[in-house]
Amino acid sequence: MILNNDHISEVFPSVFRIRINLPNNPLRFVNSYLVKGKERSLLIDTAFNLESCYDELSFALNYLNVDRKNLDLFITHIHADHIGLLDRFIKNSRVFMSNVEQEVVVEAIKHPDYWHLMNVFLLSNGMPKEILEGALKYLDLVYVQTYPSMKSDILENFKSIRDGEILSYGDLDLQGLLTPGHSPGHMCLYDEKNKILFSGDHVLFDITPNITWWPNLNNALKSYFDSLEKINKLKIELTFPGHGEPGKDIHKRIENIIRHHNKRLDEILSSLYDYKNAYEIAREIKWNLKYDKWEAFPKTQKYFALGETIAHLIYLKENNLVEEKVENEIILYKRAL
Ligand SMILES: [Zn+2]
Repeated sequence: MILNNDHISEVFPSVFRIRINLPNNPLRFVNSYLVKGKERSLLIDTAFNLESCYDELSFALNYLNVDRKNLDLFITHIHADHIGLLDRFIKNSRVFMSNVEQEVVVEAIKHPDYWHLMNVFLLSNGMPKEILEGALKYLDLVYVQTYPSMKSDILENFKSIRDGEILSYGDLDLQGLLTPGHSPGHMCLYDEKNKILFSGDHVLFDITPNITWWPNLNNALKSYFDSLEKINKLKIELTFPGHGEPGKDIHKRIENIIRHHNKRLDEILSSLYDYKNAYEIAREIKWNLKYDKWEAFPKTQKYFALGETIAHLIYLKENNLVEEKVENEIILYKRAL
């Protein structure tokens, strides 16, 4: 396997971006970042629990002369494209993540049923069983299997950090900023002096991060808006996202993302003249995807689209703009009068 300079690049003095392929995934790549210190270094995010991802990441760390005995990990959030390789790298490492996300990760490791709660909720929002089962065939492979493969003894190396706590590596003082929305305890790292942000999947520049319902984050879109405002107040000149290229103008990007969600809220609200379930609503939304009709969406895209629709419906409901009722165990929504 050959990694060229596209895959490993110094994006800031002593900060290296490692771009790792995500096979058969529309995201195509995930970014890990290495902050090189004098004694210990910090690796921000891993990739899927796949052999090819492991090989690419190992190659990059060797190439960058990193001694794995002196490597700590920071995980921005629970998703398998960021946390997947954790137990392959954890042996000599401390693993930092937010205290909120750590609780979710521990839950997911100890009780694989955690993900099942999400599936039950999707079914109660009108998702046909065969679509869910089709999506899970893929998602089980990369997402759910991540957690059963992790052994509980890795929990001993976990170090939770709270909002505002600082991790110092090399010349960087990285402040953990709790940014719930994309996941319940997502955390960005911010260096105030250098005005740089590792944004995880909180702000991406090529796509809008998926926002969905979580068992412990009911109004995820509200949390996401609040977390965007929180980041928007900071002085940031360069952002290193979890996917895609680094971005210069995060403030403009945040404005665009907020506008995108407000437009979608309007679109959903204007279609709710009569009771519908979330799956029916998702089918009518104009998604910004390459497929020209809903029927052509892969099942995994339908899964994510439904989650996104539900997050918007809950936001509208919490703002008293939408009311809901349950009929035959399916939740129905309608515009409030
Ligand atoms: Zn991601």
